[in-house]
Amino acid sequence: MSIFDRLSKYDYGTLHLRRDEESGLQAIVAIHDTRLGPALGGCRCIEYSTHDDAVVDALRLARGMTYKAAITGIPHGGGKSVIIRPSGSFDRTALFRAFGQFIDDLRGRYITAEDSGTSVEDMEVIRSVTSHVTGIAPANGGSGDPSPYTAMGVRRGIEACAKFALGRSDLQGLKVAVQGVGHVGFHLCRQLHELGASLVVADIDASKTERAASELGAEVVSLDAIFRVPCDVFAPCALGSAINAETLPALQCKIVAGAANNQLDTPSLGQELMNRGILYAPDYAINAGGLLNVAQEVAGYNESVVRERTMDIYNTIFEISDRAAKAELPTHEVANAMARERLAAAS
Ligand code: NAD
Repeated sequence: MSIFDRLSKYDYGTLHLRRDEESGLQAIVAIHDTRLGPALGGCRCIEYSTHDDAVVDALRLARGMTYKAAITGIPHGGGKSVIIRPSGSFDRTALFRAFGQFIDDLRGRYITAEDSGTSVEDMEVIRSVTSHVTGIAPANGGSGDPSPYTAMGVRRGIEACAKFALGRSDLQGLKVAVQGVGHVGFHLCRQLHELGASLVVADIDASKTERAASELGAEVVSLDAIFRVPCDVFAPCALGSAINAETLPALQCKIVAGAANNQLDTPSLGQELMNRGILYAPDYAINAGGLLNVAQEVAGYNESVVRERTMDIYNTIFEISDRAAKAELPTHEVANAMARERLAAAS
C-alpha cells in the first residue's frame, strides 16, 4: 500500500518524518487530530522489520490516542511517535537529543511521553532540548511512571464490567486471566489480589510469572493456555491483537478487559465477542489512566486529581456497556461513536 493510501486508510492529513545522519535517528511523528488540544502520546523506540511497519504502528497508535483523549474528556488530541531503534550499538543521548529537536520543530502541536522502549531518563534528555515532553521524573516536577495509574483504571473498568455483566459489586473470588505481567499487568494483578480475585497469568518472561506466583499466589500457565482458561475476566496486558481469529474461539471468559492497546486484531471481532456473549471493555477507554497522568503533568501535576479521574473510568466503561446493550451494538462501536460526538462538538 502506498504511503498516501495508508494516510487515507487511517484518516490522516499529515505525517512527519525525520532522518538525522549524525545520531542515526529515523523517527516518525503521527499527529492524528488536534481539535481537542495539542496531540499527546508516547514515543516508542523499538526494532521494526520494515519502515512500513513503523509507519503503520505510529498511525494506528496516534488515532487510538485521539479516541482515548476524547472518551476520557482529556483536552488533548491524538499523537504518537516512533523511533526506529538503530541496530547495533548507538549513542542513546545523541539519539534522544536529535528526537527532541524534531519535537521542538513541531512547535507544540505534539507533546511526547514514554512508551515501549523509552524511559524517564530518555524523557529527561528530550527535555534538555524541548519543553514539549511529559513523563519526566517526579524530582523534576514530572509524573514519572504512568503504569500504576493505567493499572488502576483497568481495575476500575473490570469492576464496572463485573457489575454490568455479572451483577457483582466486588471482585471477591472473581477469576482473572492476565496475559502479560509487565509494568501494568503486575500492578493490576496486585490490585486484583488485594480485592480478593484469583489470578492466572502467562508471560514470555518467566521471572515475571514467578514473581506473580510467589507474591500474589497466581497460577502460571503457558502462553497459549492463557486464552483457554475458564475464567470471569480475560485481561490482555501484553501486546496488541490478543483477540484474533485464532484466539477468540478459544476464549472461555465472560469479560475481556485489559491494558493492551489495539486488542482487537480487526474491528469485526468486537461483533463476534458480542455474539458470544462476552462483554468487551474498549481498550482505549479502559487503559486511559496513564494518559490522564501525563496530561495532568501538562496542566500542572496534581496526584489527587489524577486518582479521582482514573477512578472515574468505572463510569465511562459502565456507560459504554449500558449504551451498547440498549442499542444492541458492540461496545467498541459505541465507544467510537461517543468519542466522535465529543470531537464533533469540539470542532
Ligand atoms: P511491559 O513491556 O512492561 O509489559 C508487557 C509484558 O508482556 C512483558 O512482561 C512481556 O514479557 C509480556 N509479553 C510480551 N509478549 C507476550 C506474549 N505473547 N504472551 C504473554 N506475555 C507477553 O508493558 P506495559 O507498560 O505493562 O504495557 C502493557 C500493554 O499496555 C501494552 O500493550 C501497552 O501499549 C499498553 N498500555 C500501557 C500503558 C502504560 O501506562 N504503561 C498505558 C496504556 C496502554
